[in-house]
This record gives sequence, C-alpha cells and structure tokens, in this order.
Amino acid sequence: MRIFDPHIHMTARTTDDYEAMHAAGVRAVVEPAFWLGQPRTNVGSLTDYFDTLIGWERFRAGQFGIAHHCTIALNPKEANDPRCLPVLDLLDRYLAKDGVVAVGEVGFDSMTAAEEDAFRRQLELAGVHALPALVHTPHRDKVAGTRRTLALVAEVGLDPGTVLVDHLNELTVDLVDDAGAWLGFSIYPDTKMDPVRMVAVLQRRGLDRVLVNSAADWGRSDPLATARTAEAMLAAGFDADQVDQVLWRNPVEFFGQSGRLLLEVDEPDATQTFEGNSLLRGERVS
Ligand SMILES: [Zn+2]
Repeated sequence: MRIFDPHIHMTARTTDDYEAMHAAGVRAVVEPAFWLGQPRTNVGSLTDYFDTLIGWERFRAGQFGIAHHCTIALNPKEANDPRCLPVLDLLDRYLAKDGVVAVGEVGFDSMTAAEEDAFRRQLELAGVHALPALVHTPHRDKVAGTRRTLALVAEVGLDPGTVLVDHLNELTVDLVDDAGAWLGFSIYPDTKMDPVRMVAVLQRRGLDRVLVNSAADWGRSDPLATARTAEAMLAAGFDADQVDQVLWRNPVEFFGQSGRLLLEVDEPDATQTFEGNSLLRGERVS
C-alpha cells in the first residue's frame, strides 16, 4: 500500500514518526505552513520557518524515504497579528520555489475582517502563480466559515477544481462538493472525523475529489491516521485500487496541478548532510 498524506506538520514530529510512517506505507507528504502554538513576533520567524519547510524538513523526510512538499502562506490565526502581516509582501518569492505545491493553509480561524483580507490576497496569489489553494476551515462555526470560503473563491474567480477545502465533516461536505472544490478530511484520534466516520462519508459520497489526511502537528494527533483509514476502508469492503485512489492518486492529481510534485526520492543515505547538518548523533562506531 502506498500512502500520500496531503496535510501533516512534520516539523512538529519525531524521527520515530517518520520511521513508523514509512513502515505503514507513507511515501509522500504535503506540509502546509501553519502556526507554532507559540505566537510569532516578527516576519523573520515566518521566513525562517518557510525556509525550513523548503530545505531542512524536505531533507529530513528524504532520509526516511518520504517525498516532502509544502504549501506556503500566512496562516489564518496569525493573519490577525499585525506583527506577521508584512510577510504577505514576501510570499511571491516562496511561491516560485520547487516543491511548493499550493498556497496554504489559508482560510478562516475566527472569521475576522483581518483574516478575510489576508485570505483574499492569498487566493489572488494562487491565481497569479497558477497554484492550487489549501483552505483551512474553522473548528468553530464551521458551516458559516465554509460558506464564506466558497463565496470568496467565487469572488476571486479561482477555478474551484484548484481549491482544496480541508477539515470537513458531515455538515460541510455537501456545500463543498456542490461548489466543485476538492474535499479534505482530517482524521483525528479523539474528536471530529475518525476512520469509521470517514468510511461512511466515502460510502455515501464516492471517492472522486476526496483527500484524507492526518493533519498531525504538535497537538494530540496521529501521523498514521491515513493508514488507519486505509485499513478501515478495506475492512468495509473497498478494494485495494479504491484505497489507492483516495490515499495516493487523488492527492497526486490535486497537487499535481502545481506541476511541482517531487515524488522520486533517492535511497536514504545517513551520511548525507544539509548545510553541514546530518540526522546522526554522537560518534559512530564502525
Ligand atoms: Zn494543518
């Protein structure tokens, strides 16, 4: 089984996670730019993070045989912080880089005017750079946030087929489906969408334009949620080809619209370094 996790925050995860993901079949990921938990206090904090996503984290993933891509944006939460807003003027140079496969995550957190302004500007950037957009929907007031999201996509004039609306649940799936956008589902260990609910959505809705992700980050989350969903699909009677469509071919099709997927990964070589840094620790005994 080959798995593409299209939304996971690997900078917050360990090398054990990378090993377990590879063992479970994960061969490619997309890491959306997001917030850190701790508020950022200046634009340099964001640009160092973007450089990490494009550089060090891609190297680190490659050391475990996993192809790493990222999406770049000012996240919805920090769009409310005037200290972070100037990064919007620097996004062009990041959106031009290899392995940057979408603008994201953009969207709404608390549905403020500042969030909407940053969201609109970044949707426009997606159009300018001919990149897909990865949209976060709010955990509170999700239906209203999803409606406003789809209205904004239409106002900006983006093709909905280039927009992935993420963190959906049973209440928002039809709204996004009817708009023609891609449907993203984040599988969480305790709350919200779990593998069993996900399978029920797939049985009702079908498999086209559906992406399943772990959204694993620094909070309680499960980097193997994609593999667990694949197992739940098989247990419910879906076949291996249908699992491959949802867990591999759909994310390849969606993010392939960027023209920038880097799915070939060299054989891991522990002696390799990135700007002088390796993943090895201590003296090696030969
Ligand atoms: Zn996320």
